[in-house]
Amino acid sequence: MTRKGEDRIESGHPWVFSSDVAERGTAQAGDAVRVVNARGRVLGTAHYSSTSQITLRLLSRRVETVDGAFFRERIRSAAAHRDRVVEDSDAMRLVHAEGDLLPGLIVDRYSDCLSVQLLDQGMDRAGAEITAALVELFAPRSIVARNDVAVRKHENLPLEAKVLHGEAPGKIEIHFNGLRWMVEPLAGQKTGVYLDQRENYRAAARYAHGRGLDCFTSTAGFALHMAGRCSSVEAVDSSAAALALARENAALNAVTNIEFREANVFDLLAGLAASQRQYETIVLDPPAFAKSKSSRDAAGRGYKEINYKALRLLAPGGVLITCSCSHHFSETDLLETVAEAALDAGRTLRVLERRSQAADHPILLTVPETLYLKCLIFQVV
Ligand code: SAH
Repeated sequence: MTRKGEDRIESGHPWVFSSDVAERGTAQAGDAVRVVNARGRVLGTAHYSSTSQITLRLLSRRVETVDGAFFRERIRSAAAHRDRVVEDSDAMRLVHAEGDLLPGLIVDRYSDCLSVQLLDQGMDRAGAEITAALVELFAPRSIVARNDVAVRKHENLPLEAKVLHGEAPGKIEIHFNGLRWMVEPLAGQKTGVYLDQRENYRAAARYAHGRGLDCFTSTAGFALHMAGRCSSVEAVDSSAAALALARENAALNAVTNIEFREANVFDLLAGLAASQRQYETIVLDPPAFAKSKSSRDAAGRGYKEINYKALRLLAPGGVLITCSCSHHFSETDLLETVAEAALDAGRTLRVLERRSQAADHPILLTVPETLYLKCLIFQVV
């Protein structure tokens, strides 16, 4: 380990980059390895990747055997945290990778089905032990792997979705915030539904009123929460598959005041501006525009454009709920972007709330990547 790699670990971050690993010894893809500094002092135990730029992901700050008992204990403690912070939901993120000291592992619970992502070589190799630990702890009806995520390419691992335990779950019903939702753990976007916005939906419902517009609605998360407060809601997404599930969710909750539209939000906002329409509540929850540091500027232009256009459509007293799920686009970046958009649009904004991801997606103070979701709520004064 180079001095730089050691400094990084000492600063509380679990990743060591390829250029900071001085000597790999006999480490093989996915091994749990002992990490030592130049003088041989132990820094901890890490999963080793033979292909990723992130060569080491620290699992422990001591020498530890990474076996079934290790995973059982870490997952048990992650679940205990959810018992304290999750309310009124049978769907939650049980394991949030680095946020739960298990880099490379995501576990989501949807009622009696678990959905797992094994994101690095170490977690992929430990798949059977992780599955056994989950069965022992939670006795789920099924466990699926949603390993069809692009980051696995850096690990030279196949992209695939498959059943790890029990039967294929098909479509299942989950419940949160007093509403019913259908999810397809094996087929939906991401792992099925956007659990990280669960608490922000409630916040949005606190302020929603009048005519509502939910941009990038996916399966109607914000729209369904707004529907109870708004006279009508228009919900827009470019994905027909997401909208089909969105309509099903609306029907399941007997909500009839949402109009769904399949459209590109950029075009739609421009069209609405031309038609001089006004709304009292607008949600912007786009996909991550900044996938890396280098795309930050281009992302900034995208965020500015949609926020500017949305602000132009807001009536006096109207509420803007604007989100970014790009880690590379910070809360400060988003606040500055919305401020510029507001000045250009001639709107004065009051900050109602500055929010982040739901508490079952824990943030580690020394690992900035664990904070990725921003949800800002403004009112036009
Ligand atoms: N608000 C949603 C999550 C949104 S995820 C929720 O709370 O569940 C981002 C969504 O944006 C995806 O559903 C994707 O289909 C959609 N999308 C991406 N680009 C788009 C575009 N240009 N116009 C409309 N929808 C888009």
